Amino acid sequence: MKVVLALSGGLDSSTLCGYYLDKGYEVIPVTFNYGAKHNRYENEACIAVARHFGLSAPVLLDLKFIRELFRSDLLLSGSAVPEGHYTDQSMAATVVPARNLIFASIVAGYADSIDAEVISLGVHGGDHHIYPDCRPAFVSSLNTSVMLATDGKVRVDAPFLYYTKGEILRMGMALPTVRVPYEMTRTCYKDQLLSCGKCGSCVERLEAFAELGVTDPIKYAV
Ligand SMILES: [Zn+2]
Repeated sequence: MKVVLALSGGLDSSTLCGYYLDKGYEVIPVTFNYGAKHNRYENEACIAVARHFGLSAPVLLDLKFIRELFRSDLLLSGSAVPEGHYTDQSMAATVVPARNLIFASIVAGYADSIDAEVISLGVHGGDHHIYPDCRPAFVSSLNTSVMLATDGKVRVDAPFLYYTKGEILRMGMALPTVRVPYEMTRTCYKDQLLSCGKCGSCVERLEAFAELGVTDPIKYAV
């Protein structure tokens, strides 16, 4: 089986990559540059993670028009990334409208073109509250659309849909045949080299490591 994976270089998608490799899938990584504040750090992490896994260099899809046309504080054109927990309403300012719909559409077309049967997204339960295009109803509807659009050749898989970040990490650290390089991953939303440890994305990641009693191997600015 061949899977095209949206690999951001973050904790979830890097674990997802390990998950498929452990199952014996052929993984084709793709990554996006859409003008987010953290894109250049994400893209570097994505390349490092793919190299660690011995994969081909990730296909870089350039969607920089999103930065100019879309409204979100995640983008370079937006206001500062809010700090605090994901459950705080302020984090809603980091929604990039319909991002996963756009990403998945492109990945689906690419998957069909290279005879891959599956496209996969690293969405998880912690995203549901804030991000509408990470919810189960969206993923189910997306799968129907992708199947219809590709005449049944490509389907959507999102195995972490109901996982917390802690559960993803626990699973990733227990993969029998693959080591996920968490020290190479990038989670922070801010436009700075070292992760901030304060934005919703960092807070959720730190909580996941704390839940497992494991020290996060990346460096933080605080
Ligand atoms: Zn951060």
